[in-house]
Amino acid sequence: MDVPHLHLEQAHKILHSVFGYDEFRLQQDDIIEQLIGGGEALVLMPTGGGKSLCYQIPALVREGVGVVVSPLIALMQDQVAALQQVGVRAAFLNSTLNNDEVRSVESAMRNGELDLLYVAPERLMMPRMLSLLEQSKLALFAIDEAHCVSQWGHDFRPEYIQLSVLHERFPNVPRIALTATADVPTRREIIQRLALQDAKVFVSGFDRPNIRYRITENQGNVRDRLLRFIRNEHEDDAGIVYCLSRKRVDETAAWLSSKGLKALPYHAGLGVQVRQENQTRFLREDGVIIVATIAFGMGIDKPDVRFVAHLNLPKSMEAYYQETGRAGRDGLPANAWMMYGLQDVITLRQMQENSEADEAYKRIERHKLDAMLGFCELTTCRRQALLRYFDDHMDQPCGNCDTCLEPPETWDATVAAQKALSCVYRTGQRFGVNYVVDVLLGKTDDRVKRFGHDQISTFGLGSELEQNEWRNLYRQLISHGLLSVDMEAYGGLRLTETSRPVLRGEQQLHLRKFVKVSKAKKTHKTSNAWSKATDNKLWEVLRKLRTKLAEEQGVPAYVIFHDATLMEMVERQPETLAQLGNLSGIGERKLDAYGEDFLAIIIEHLGETNASPVNTADETLQLFRLGMNADTIVQQRGLAPSTVYSHLARAIQNGDVTLQDVTGLDEKVITTLCNAIEQYEEEGRLKPVFEALAEEYDYNILRCVKASMLCEVE
Ligand code: ADP
Ligand code: ZN
Repeated sequence: MDVPHLHLEQAHKILHSVFGYDEFRLQQDDIIEQLIGGGEALVLMPTGGGKSLCYQIPALVREGVGVVVSPLIALMQDQVAALQQVGVRAAFLNSTLNNDEVRSVESAMRNGELDLLYVAPERLMMPRMLSLLEQSKLALFAIDEAHCVSQWGHDFRPEYIQLSVLHERFPNVPRIALTATADVPTRREIIQRLALQDAKVFVSGFDRPNIRYRITENQGNVRDRLLRFIRNEHEDDAGIVYCLSRKRVDETAAWLSSKGLKALPYHAGLGVQVRQENQTRFLREDGVIIVATIAFGMGIDKPDVRFVAHLNLPKSMEAYYQETGRAGRDGLPANAWMMYGLQDVITLRQMQENSEADEAYKRIERHKLDAMLGFCELTTCRRQALLRYFDDHMDQPCGNCDTCLEPPETWDATVAAQKALSCVYRTGQRFGVNYVVDVLLGKTDDRVKRFGHDQISTFGLGSELEQNEWRNLYRQLISHGLLSVDMEAYGGLRLTETSRPVLRGEQQLHLRKFVKVSKAKKTHKTSNAWSKATDNKLWEVLRKLRTKLAEEQGVPAYVIFHDATLMEMVERQPETLAQLGNLSGIGERKLDAYGEDFLAIIIEHLGETNASPVNTADETLQLFRLGMNADTIVQQRGLAPSTVYSHLARAIQNGDVTLQDVTGLDEKVITTLCNAIEQYEEEGRLKPVFEALAEEYDYNILRCVKASMLCEVE
C-alpha cells in the first residue's frame, strides 16, 4: 500500500517536528521519497548539502532500523548524540564499545527499539553482525562516504568492496549510497562495485555558495599573513590550517599558540592519544584551530568550521575542493584562504616529474596539477572555474571569491616574458629562478661572472621590473607550462614547446599583475551580518549557555544548537516559546529541553537593549531604500533569504515600504494571495496556504503578504 504523497507528508512532518526545519533542500525530498517507497539511490551532494537526512528520515518512516555504514568511527558517538538530542533512537557499534555495551545495543536492535544504527564497514561483515541483521527488522542500508569503494580515489577502504554482500544477503532492504566526491569515473565505480545498477542517481550541484575562495601570493611572510588573516577575520573561530609537512605543522601550531591562539597540531607523527585528544578538543571546544597535514579531516563533520587555510598548494582540484569543503557545513559564511608561491609550484612540479609511477598515471597527475596551478593564476571568477572543473556550471561570476571582489589587474607581459624566456635559454637551461633573475637584473656576483653571464645579451636587460615581479612572472610562466623544472638539474628551468610562439612573438601573454601585500587593499570581512551577530552581546551569552549545556552532557556544542540557530535567535529575537520553536533547527524535543533556558536569556537581553534602535532589520530596510531588491540584499549581507524577507515583512507591517515594492506582485495576484491566507491559514501556519496555492508562491512571499494584511497604516 504505497501512497507516495502520504509518504512525503510524513517525511515533511518529521523534518519539522523532529529536526526543526521548514523545507527540504536540494533533492532531499525526491531522495527520501525514493527510499521510503523501497527504491535504491546513489546520492551525490556537496558537503553540507544535507545528506544525512536523506537516510535518517526514511529510516524513521519505514518500519525497522536503518543501518548506516560509515568509516568515521571517531564521529559516530557525536552523530548518535546529535540524533538522541532530537529524540531519535540511535546507537552505534564499533571497537570503542565494551562487551556489555555491545550486547545492550544488539538486544535493543533485535527488539525493534532502534531507529538508526551506525556501524563501521569492517564490523558489518563479521558473522555475528550479519546474524544480528538477519534477526532484526531492517528499514534500509545507508552507505556513507561511498567513494571509499573506489580504488582510484585517495580514501580507498578495502572493506568497502565487500559491501556488495549486503545486496546479496538482504535483497529486499533498500540501499542508499552517499558521497560528496563524485566525478563521473568514481560514480561509475560506485555503481559497479556496490551493484547499484537499479539505483536512481541524484546529482546535486557542487557549489558551496557560502564559501569564499581566496588565493594570495606568498611573498615570504606566510606566518604573519596567516596570523593577520585569523585576527582580522576569525577571532575566536574554529578553523583548519593545512601544511604540507609535519615539521611545518608543529612550527605553525607552536607559533600561533605563542600568539595567544588556541592552535593544536595534528599529523601522523603524533601519538594516537595526542591526535585523539586534539581532534576531540577541536570538535568540542569553541574556537580551536587545528594545524594539520592533509591526513586530517576525512569526515570531520564539524559544522561550524569557519575557515580553512592552506599554507601550501593542494596537488589537485579534487583535493582543494575536498579540503576547503570542510569549512562552513552549516551554510554560514566561511573562508577558504590559500597562500601559494613560486616554491610551491617548483616543488610540486619536481615531485611529479620525479614520481616512479608509469607514464599514463603521470600524465593524469600532470594534468591535475596543471588545472590546480591554472586555478591559482586565474583572473576570472574562481567559483565558475571550480564548478566547470567538476562539469557543473554557473552562469554569472559568483561575487564571492577574490577575483570577483577585487578583480586582479592584468598586464601585457609579452615582452617581459620574452626576456625571461630568452634569459633561460642564453644561460643554458640549467639554472633556477633566483639565478636567472639575478642575470636579468644585471647583478655581478661571482657566479654570474664565473659563468660569463655578464657578457650575454639578456644581462641587465630587466631593470624595468623588480626582483619580486620577475619571480612572480617566472611563477606564472611555470604554472602555465611555458617553462618546466628539471629535477635532475636541481630545479633548473627549461623551455617547453609552448614557449616558442611567445618567444617568436606569435602569441601575446596577459598575466596577473604583481601586487605587493602591503599595498594590497584591505581584506573583506566574510559577511556583515555574521560579524554583526557575532559581535553581539546576546550572541556571547547564548554561546555560553550552549557551552554549559554541552559540557553537562559531554557532547559538542553544535549538538545542542548549531551556530545558525543561535544566529537566528540573535536576529529574530523571539519572545515566546512558539516563536522560538519556529526557528530553523529547533524541533519539538529541543524546544522542550532547552527552550525555556534560551528564551529567558533572550528576553532578559531584550529588556536591556530595547533602547537601541539600530538593528539588523533596519540595515535591511536601509539597503532596500537604496534601491536594492531582496535578492541583492541577501547577497550583500550574506543572510538567509528568510531572514531578509522577515525584515522586509516587518517593514511592510510597519508601513515603511509597500508589498508591491518588495514583491513586485500586481494587485490581482495580491488579492488572490490575501484570500488564500484568510481561507487556509491555520493557527498562524502558512503551510496549508502554501499547499493550497500549489506551492507556487514561496513562504517568504506569503509572509510579506500576511504582513501587509496586518499593516494598519493606510
Ligand atoms: P552532509 O552530510 O551532506 O555534509 P549534513 O547532513 O551534515 O550534510 O547536513 C549539513 C547541515 O545542514 C546540518 O547541520 C543539517 O542539520 C543541516 N540541514 C540538512 N537538511 C536541512 C534542511 N532541509 N533545512 C535546514 N537545514 C538542513
Ligand atoms: Zn567569483
